Amino acid sequence: MEQYDAFYIDGGWAKPATADTFRVVSPHTEEVIASVPAGAAADMDAAVGAARKAFDSTDWPTRAPEERMEVVRRFADLYAGRMAEMADVITAEMGSPTSFSQLAQSPAPWMMLTTFLDVAASYPWEEQRSGVLGSPVTVRRAPVGVVAAIVPWNVPQFVTMSKLAPALLAGCTVVLKPAPETPLDAYLLAELLHEAGVPAGVVNIVPAGREVGAHLVAHPGVDKVAFTGSTAAGRAIASVCGQQLKRCSLELGGKSAAVILDDADLAATMEGLKFASLMNSGQACVAQTRILASRANYDAVVDALAETVAGMTVGDPADPATEIGPLVSQRQRERVAKYIALGEEEGARVATGGSGRPAGLERGWYVQPTVFAGATNTMRIAREEIFGPVLTVIPYQDLDDAVRIANDSEYGLAGSVWTAERAAGMDVARRLRTGTVGVNQYTMDFVAPFGGFKASGIGREFGREGLDAYSELQSLVPLGG
Ligand code: NAD
Repeated sequence: MEQYDAFYIDGGWAKPATADTFRVVSPHTEEVIASVPAGAAADMDAAVGAARKAFDSTDWPTRAPEERMEVVRRFADLYAGRMAEMADVITAEMGSPTSFSQLAQSPAPWMMLTTFLDVAASYPWEEQRSGVLGSPVTVRRAPVGVVAAIVPWNVPQFVTMSKLAPALLAGCTVVLKPAPETPLDAYLLAELLHEAGVPAGVVNIVPAGREVGAHLVAHPGVDKVAFTGSTAAGRAIASVCGQQLKRCSLELGGKSAAVILDDADLAATMEGLKFASLMNSGQACVAQTRILASRANYDAVVDALAETVAGMTVGDPADPATEIGPLVSQRQRERVAKYIALGEEEGARVATGGSGRPAGLERGWYVQPTVFAGATNTMRIAREEIFGPVLTVIPYQDLDDAVRIANDSEYGLAGSVWTAERAAGMDVARRLRTGTVGVNQYTMDFVAPFGGFKASGIGREFGREGLDAYSELQSLVPLGG
């Protein structure tokens, strides 16, 4: 069992304030694989203090952007060399199937990092405008300050990088709070940042629970909170930030719809939905969990989806053949199993799966991948985020009805349209009230803004807009020509 006994604060390894620990448990074996110190309020104070000092008293925020890019480039190169190991760590700590983690849990964050470097190279850090009062005006992007980055366990490096990369490039300093379930990847991250020569105090890492997370959010030394997680926590964080007039960006939950048009190639659509709906065993905020099929095509879609999902390989996440692994924790397993039971109670029909355990997997936090048919959009399984491998197929009458159902959600994070006609798919996509929409696939592109409409969040990550989120606009207006 691996044992960590310090936090990465002020460029070194700091002794924790208390003896409290988090045990990291393998979702596959249910055995403890590591222990890390649990951050307390005093540890957060030390981390914020270090970040504050690095921001207020070093040249990090005022360095030329190219100099910071140099540091980030070194970090990206080192990251590339440890990517496979990083994905393995995440598979071990949270059960992400290796087929997914070797693609999305570390190569995607690396690609995000390099895309941010490209964006930074052409970013208008300082822009001249001919002023109306006779003098040229300089509009600059000043770093927003000390950033509290609070991340969930499902895609820990992916979410971390969406905050860390733009924060570093913009000249901010960071306190990163990993979730208690997934602290191990953050320790490897600390090693890479240190080796890359990121100056002391620029990034500080303290795994901690909710309460200490709330302490970090409210800390007067923090200028901006960048949060990814549940909508419930997002609301609590937003109200604290509102009161303190702190900048905050929120990437929250989703209940995304995949709209299948009648002309879609059904086999290709099913293959696409394996990823779009069930990536990371369904533990993805962008998972396409409401499958919308026309009444005419409904039975064919239900049958094809049930057959596809029933055929997916469930088991040991470290096995490259595995498509669906265990859920992250016992709590999450219970929650998802409850939703499956609830779907049955609400009157939906189990087309495949059910609330029992998958055959042969008596240990580990496994559920059966489940498809519900005969569902309506008013059922709780169609309205609430389940965060597991559970899909609900909902019938629609015509295209307008499909758009209405897709948009009839508290959330507005993502969506997809499946069709033989790309242009027609793009037309439907434009009618969906969500931050990203895929046509015949769902993934995001790191050059384009990502984020939510409605209760899926506030603000955008990735692309130029992702850098904007870490800067304050400052106008310099000199006297004379
Ligand atoms: P969660 O909200 O319970 O926890 C997320 C993180 O926030 C954890 O680090 C947790 O310790 C911390 N936290 C919780 N309450 C806090 C508070 N009041 N103050 C400060 N920190 C707090 O969510 P979870 O169950 O860990 O993660 C799953 C959720 O994350 C899902 O709802 C999912 O949709 C969402 N998610 C969203 C995106 C996105 O980009 N929109 C991406 C991944 C996950």
